[in-house]
Amino acid sequence: EEETSPTKKLVTDHGVKVASHYNKLQEVGLEVRSQSRIFFMRNFNNWMKSVLIGEILEQVRDAGTRNVSVLDLGCGKGGDLLKWRRGGISHLVCTDIAGVSVEQCQSRYEDMKRRSHVNEKIFSAQFITADSSKEVLSEKLDDPEMMFNICSCQFVYHYSFESEQKADMMLRNACERLKPGGFFIGTTPDAYQLIKRLEASDSLSFGNEVFKVSFQSKGPYPLFGCQYHFSLEGVVDVPEFLVYFPLFEHMAKRYNMRLVLKQRFSEFFEEKVKKEHHRSLMMKMAALEPFPCGDGSRQATESAGEYSHAKEHCGRAGVRA
Ligand code: SAM
Repeated sequence: EEETSPTKKLVTDHGVKVASHYNKLQEVGLEVRSQSRIFFMRNFNNWMKSVLIGEILEQVRDAGTRNVSVLDLGCGKGGDLLKWRRGGISHLVCTDIAGVSVEQCQSRYEDMKRRSHVNEKIFSAQFITADSSKEVLSEKLDDPEMMFNICSCQFVYHYSFESEQKADMMLRNACERLKPGGFFIGTTPDAYQLIKRLEASDSLSFGNEVFKVSFQSKGPYPLFGCQYHFSLEGVVDVPEFLVYFPLFEHMAKRYNMRLVLKQRFSEFFEEKVKKEHHRSLMMKMAALEPFPCGDGSRQATESAGEYSHAKEHCGRAGVRA
């Protein structure tokens, strides 16, 4: 039936497009990455994720959990592996629709384990290639009883808002294996900002020399399948979908989730950068490429501002009741 239904065929093709796009992206070394004009933005996003992940791990530990298990939904090439290592978790399940990315993620993990100090106990891990907006992840777990303290879904969820079915399956995969009190954390573009900027534009797109966001039309904006095209210096060039946040929040209730925090990147940044240890992490990350003006936090704010022209993301966390 899947082969013959035109709607389903379209849905399938989109998943294939996303997977092949991410599979084609080359893994480049730090030297090449640091030459990129979007280096600051990547660094900034990484810092945001580090803070989000670090703080949620602290909360889970404060609640008395010793062995933390995590589901990284849409793990990509494993950009967050080091964050989980630093956080001292016990088990990680990494999953992504792009098979090549999952392979690279796994070999990064194996490398990390090989190079680690004998006294350091690196978390155990499982790697799964799957379309989380279509397949039931729990059926693929090595341990069918596995429950997670945290599901982390970084810059991924918007791909699932193509249809209600897909968005719901993604949520189900994110939440159904969470322990009571477990957290769903993630980052996704801010639909309000995207529409606001589109409406303010003379054309059907907006952006600058670094990024471009294009829509098919100004309205209507359906709740699902509201597609736009995002490109960023050739790094991301794939269709995405608006996530209407109140709807997302409502849908999550089906999985006993309650919203505990939703912030725009700029708000999150302003709040977290006040803490000394977060600021010093930012300085360390920034030290990979010295800030031109010598004022790390200010430059980073400007980077955040610049990025917010492209896409305003929210850091958010939900907790399982
Ligand atoms: N989370 C990683 C990070 O923060 O570095 C990767 C983010 S990347 C922008 C988006 C990822 O979502 C890609 O690796 C892509 O393959 C994955 N993805 C998109 N749709 C997916 C789906 N339906 N199921 C699983 N992964 C998906």
